[in-house]
Amino acid sequence: MLPPRYAKWLTDLLGGTLPEEQAATCSSCAMQGEAVAEGYRFRADAKCCTYVPALPNFLVGAALRELPPGPGRASLESRIEDLATCTPHGLDVSEADRARYQALVAAETFGRDPDLRCPHYLAEQGGLCGIWRQRNGVCATWFCKHDRGAAGQRFWQAAEALLTLAERELCHWCACQLLYREAPPGAAEIDDSLSEWSAWVPLRRDYYLRAAALVDELSWPEVQVIGGPELAALVEQLQAAHAALRSEGSAGPASRLVALRRPPTVLVPGTVKLAQRGPVSTRVVTYSDSDALELPNELLALLPRFDGRATEQVLAELAREGVILTPDLVARLVDFAVLEAPA
Ligand code: SF4
Ligand code: SF4
Repeated sequence: MLPPRYAKWLTDLLGGTLPEEQAATCSSCAMQGEAVAEGYRFRADAKCCTYVPALPNFLVGAALRELPPGPGRASLESRIEDLATCTPHGLDVSEADRARYQALVAAETFGRDPDLRCPHYLAEQGGLCGIWRQRNGVCATWFCKHDRGAAGQRFWQAAEALLTLAERELCHWCACQLLYREAPPGAAEIDDSLSEWSAWVPLRRDYYLRAAALVDELSWPEVQVIGGPELAALVEQLQAAHAALRSEGSAGPASRLVALRRPPTVLVPGTVKLAQRGPVSTRVVTYSDSDALELPNELLALLPRFDGRATEQVLAELAREGVILTPDLVARLVDFAVLEAPA
């Protein structure tokens, strides 16, 4: 579920339903347990939250407004108390945390280092997010698995780029409104003897609440005006990714094939890494390490037959040999980049 504000923006923008990623079963994390190949598991006490998120001012304010006393609220208050990372644009990430995250990515230990667990991660509640309804665009669009494989990932990556840029532009816009056009509550007028932010620091919770109220009043078209041409370009990319998903079929659970889908006219094998070979089937990794597929060995052996000839010709040739690959199955292999259109 997207944060309500972002869900509204994206549905207004795309005019339709958004993909649901039902394979990413967060309450019973899909990256743990026996179903996950050794080496690709996340730690049960960290999941995919080994990341400290920057929070734009308007999300901080919205979280302050709605979070009741409890661990989620406490996690936010604790960050607001840290003046080193508490800024007019929102809650920043310290250089130390940034460096630790980069080291973690380089060492490929994402999801496996509890030392870099997010401050909003509620371990004692089984790994819930303490700011779920106000999490940022990165958190809101990341899934370990996608019901439509690489096609779904392309959509969410486009959504992440758009929301992240919107956050950057909106938190800057809020800062300009509040620092240069408003005095802190209780001040008769802007005190020129203080820097604009210094005057707000003792009242920074009010500042963040005001930022949330300012963004509440914006419609998506107004957000786009603030975001300018850079945001407009990302809107086009998101619309294209959404149209591609819709034209290829509606999103659905991994087990449900989508009817009447047409595979590309020419196909070749994608980059398929064999993770674990069994006597009947093989676990393969294609577009994402965290979304491996279990494919029958017989099917894997057929992939080289897609050698750049017309897909219909290859399917007809296989049919003459008594092997029927339905268009739906081929389209699903394309979704997961097992087969792909030639470059
Ligand atoms: S998105 Fe994160 S919490 Fe959800 S199932 Fe995947 S790894 Fe687990
Ligand atoms: S904000 Fe929530 S979803 Fe994002 S990393 Fe923290 S706990 Fe996880």
